[in-house]
Amino acid sequence: DKYKDGLSKTRKSFSEKINDLVARYRTVDEEFFEDLEEVLISADVGVSTVMELIEELEMEVKRQNIKDTKEVKQVISEKLVEIYQGDDDQEDHTDLNLQENELTIILFVGVNGVGKTTTIGKLAHQLKSEGKEVILTAGDTFRAGAIEQLNEWGKRVGVDVIKHSEGSDPAAVIYDGIQAAKSRQADVLLCDTAGRLQNKVNLMNELSKVKRVIEREVPNAPHEVLLVLDATTGQNALSQAKTFSQATDVSGIVLTKLDGTAKGGIVLAIRNELGIPVKLVGLGEKMTDLQEFDPHAFVYGLFA
Ligand code: GDP
Repeated sequence: DKYKDGLSKTRKSFSEKINDLVARYRTVDEEFFEDLEEVLISADVGVSTVMELIEELEMEVKRQNIKDTKEVKQVISEKLVEIYQGDDDQEDHTDLNLQENELTIILFVGVNGVGKTTTIGKLAHQLKSEGKEVILTAGDTFRAGAIEQLNEWGKRVGVDVIKHSEGSDPAAVIYDGIQAAKSRQADVLLCDTAGRLQNKVNLMNELSKVKRVIEREVPNAPHEVLLVLDATTGQNALSQAKTFSQATDVSGIVLTKLDGTAKGGIVLAIRNELGIPVKLVGLGEKMTDLQEFDPHAFVYGLFA
């Protein structure tokens, strides 16, 4: 199962530590919770999320009158799923907002190196194998090699890539992408953008220019603005998420490289602290290593 394999590093470190705690303490007490707090923080669950979780756990343990640490494991996973889902039923929101019989435009944002191009390639492959006509747009005209890299993915997956030369206006490329998608009656247009972050005002201006072009050409688009974050960067990913969500309306997160980290708890921190749903997760470098995010599968993958 993809989740189990992709999360093996996190699972190994997480479940080893939890099992160790359970063996060491046997009975649930104050110190047990303190140590559990540390285990969760070391998995990058995020301090405020951990505090919330511990409080809920303490209440639940009291309510159910649980004494044995072995029984606490089940309660931990239940509470993790609950915390991920938040107050309202977030489950539906993890699905991509794909239009039926109409063009869907998805904009990808994020800093260089997080796996944006790879994610676009993987998603193109997935959509194409569902029978959808997909077009890619090389809107990262800033980073050297970005256009060529997207082009390579296009070839590999077998979808067209609309591109201009390096240094050209991203909004103009995306405009062309939209025209191509319209004339070919494509189902989905996946748009790459530049990942410059050194200046928030620049980033904001560039993204709003691109969005204005899209909004003008296709009503109600973009249908998704997906922020790509690298799970191996831990709390840094969280601060990137804050910056981007201030610069533009982010509708969902793609968390890449979960296979490369023992700190997969960052997923929970992002959902809980920013209120932005994680929609897709990258669990490897292959074309097929992109999965829809499923809170249950994720949390149970941690304990499996
Ligand atoms: P971009 O600069 O954001 O477009 O990043 P790239 O798509 O070029 O990806 C940067 C590196 O991360 C590449 O070597 C990718 O193969 C790798 N990568 C992307 N997603 C994943 C993932 O889910 N797992 C792993 N292990 N590597 C990934």
